[in-house]
Amino acid sequence: RSKHHKENHVNTRHWMRVLKGLILKSLYMIAKQHDIPVVIDSARFCENAWFIKQREKGYENKSIKEIVKEMYQYGDMLTMSAKKDPMVNIGGLCCFRDDEALFNEVRIRCVPMEGFVTYGGLAGRDMAALAIGLEEGMDEDFLSYRINQVKYLGEKLREAGIPVQYPIGGHAVFVDAKLLLPHIPSDQFPAHALNNELYLEAGIRSVEIGSLLLGRDPQTGQQKPSPMELMRLAIPRRVYTNDHMDYIVEAFIALKQRATQIKGLTFTYEPPVLRHFVSRLKPIDNDK
Ligand SMILES: *Cc1c(COP(=O)(O)O)cnc(C)c1O
Repeated sequence: RSKHHKENHVNTRHWMRVLKGLILKSLYMIAKQHDIPVVIDSARFCENAWFIKQREKGYENKSIKEIVKEMYQYGDMLTMSAKKDPMVNIGGLCCFRDDEALFNEVRIRCVPMEGFVTYGGLAGRDMAALAIGLEEGMDEDFLSYRINQVKYLGEKLREAGIPVQYPIGGHAVFVDAKLLLPHIPSDQFPAHALNNELYLEAGIRSVEIGSLLLGRDPQTGQQKPSPMELMRLAIPRRVYTNDHMDYIVEAFIALKQRATQIKGLTFTYEPPVLRHFVSRLKPIDNDK
């Protein structure tokens, strides 16, 4: 909230690394000691609760709803993209617990960003969809189908020899483009080259999480190599069948066969901000 809080934010990240596995509870306790409000990014709160149930001791017999309730004991505020786990077309919400000062700070920022809170922000039907989506997103049969579909895709890609991040996550499979395209250096954006090839091969859209997203060093303007060059295959909820997943795998098998011929990319247009979204690139022709 202030310079003081900004410094603490850096510390928070340090502690998150230190406290792997105990994050929610411990982080909240540390934050309380330093009077830092804890904001829970809740776009994927159902999938997160699902993984707590699957992976954390003592939670295997709790319902998703019980786990969600416990998660939010360790937060002062939440922000939620309603497009994700609550399955709404658009919008989101902020919620606060017993902190009027924090609420007021957010409310003031809302005016230039979104409008007065009394405007409502969301259309009535989206709010109605949100009210239902919050419940449906926590349905365990749905979550089991959803997360297992992503896992199905990840396991099949693995069987086909495509390097993926493991274990498979809840909403997406991440393909390791550094391993699949070792001949393309990071400043030629291997994961983005792979995105383009997948689209040409099979009309499938994916997104780069690597050096293109990382951007240039703000001080020096140098392109920094990202520690990972990943391609994200995010799977929409309630849209695809597993036949579609098989189709993706077939496309990757074809890509793998011609992987050595896939070329790196160079900018034809690179805007100063948000280049990940609007820049244009072309393949580098090494033969010339
Ligand atoms: C999508 C997402 C956001 C951003 O939400 P938008 O509604 O697209 O602005 C924030 N956090 C997480 C974890 C997300 O998945």
